[in-house]
Amino acid sequence: EESVVIPTIKLNNGMSMPVLGYGTWLGFNDQMEIDMPSYKKMVDALEYAIDIGYRHIDTAHLYRVEPEVGEVIEKKIKEGVVKREDLFITTKVWQHYHREKDVEVSVRDSLRRMKLDYVDQVLVHWPMSHNQEGVDEKIDYLETWRGFEAVLKAGLTKSIGVSNFSVAQLKRLIASSKVVPATNQVEGLLPLLSNIKCAYNRNTTPLARRDARSQRRTRQRNKGYRGRELSENLLPTTVNSFNKMFYHWNIRLKSGTNTRQVNLNFPQHELVDYCKSQGIVVVAYAPLGCLVPSKNFPNSPEPKLDNPQMVAMAKKHKKTVTQIVLRHLYERGLVSLPKTVTRSRVLENASIFDFKLDADDTKVLESFNNGYRSNPLLWYINFEHYPFEKVVSGAVSLLLGRTGRPSGKEIARSA
Ligand code: NDP
Repeated sequence: EESVVIPTIKLNNGMSMPVLGYGTWLGFNDQMEIDMPSYKKMVDALEYAIDIGYRHIDTAHLYRVEPEVGEVIEKKIKEGVVKREDLFITTKVWQHYHREKDVEVSVRDSLRRMKLDYVDQVLVHWPMSHNQEGVDEKIDYLETWRGFEAVLKAGLTKSIGVSNFSVAQLKRLIASSKVVPATNQVEGLLPLLSNIKCAYNRNTTPLARRDARSQRRTRQRNKGYRGRELSENLLPTTVNSFNKMFYHWNIRLKSGTNTRQVNLNFPQHELVDYCKSQGIVVVAYAPLGCLVPSKNFPNSPEPKLDNPQMVAMAKKHKKTVTQIVLRHLYERGLVSLPKTVTRSRVLENASIFDFKLDADDTKVLESFNNGYRSNPLLWYINFEHYPFEKVVSGAVSLLLGRTGRPSGKEIARSA
């Protein structure tokens, strides 16, 4: 039967959050642009998700699908499938709105786009701030958080949380704020939360200039974005260049001798333990990591969907490999947000509450911990509030320190 019952977890303000939510980030296409054309499939999949029992939806200003998310919610309420209070809707404030007074502007815009009176949670999407040109504004996230406390007080949201915050940033935030974040949404990579260690110094200007033309085209397209008002340039101008550069780099960095520099074992047990000690629920984004083909680079680390150990484990439990992974995150006490625009996977990903992993399974799952982060946002690495570790390794920093993309030869030499 096509229905699921998703358990909930208590937040530090007494609210209940379903432990599995529907992720609405459409991802990048091959051109490293947001895959907007797939929004129609997303609408269909989200409707289906609510029909079968999903109650938690994760979206963001950045994702550009708030209008669609709102339409689906309206439809499902009209049809009597759910009531507004049955749903847990999270959105996020993007990095252009980090000034205290701008937070309310951003939240009100999100509410208007979704045609809602309130959301259940708003997150600081990233600790860094930047203007529309992608320049670091260095706004203290403590200021941003004051804006968050204000929207909470004003009733625009039922809870507030953060995303991509490090332990140090959380400690600082908690020490000087009234409200403790309800959640920290971070990469929930299989099998452990982990960090990439890789850094470079960069000068964005020539790259930005080189990409100015394609960026103008992007802005043009965004302007016409289905007749909606989302005309602003949400990503810094350099993102596409860096995405592309990172793509080329990644292939090399994750292979051969350079593997050492990226895959330093660095599980974020500390982050999870700290959050738990403070009553902050850890929400895992990108829960499938590089397991699935769309997230794979050549040579990205095991396991992939066809990994023999994973396949055997799945067979043992009469489940799929993705279900094993999502179950593991659940057993670690994490909330996860798998994204899929495919109906069958919507059902598959939530059908994980009727079996248990044993100690042997967990051992195998933990053996895959290799410190690989699939979403390091390297283009922000020199920003004041960049949350992840920076480890400068000779060859990497040397090559990335200069402007322009390294040639194949240079990459080969660095490895
Ligand atoms: P996911 O780990 O959810 O992976 C999504 C990919 O996996 C898609 O290509 C999807 O394909 C595929 N997939 C999903 N289920 C299955 C399955 N059962 N079998 C095989 N393939 C499957 O990555 P996301 O990056 O999308 O992260 C999930 C959500 O987390 C986002 O949508 C967003 O809401 C949130 N997020 C938050 C971030 C933050 O900074 N706070 C950053 C990144 C994500 P298909 O859709 O074609 O079915």
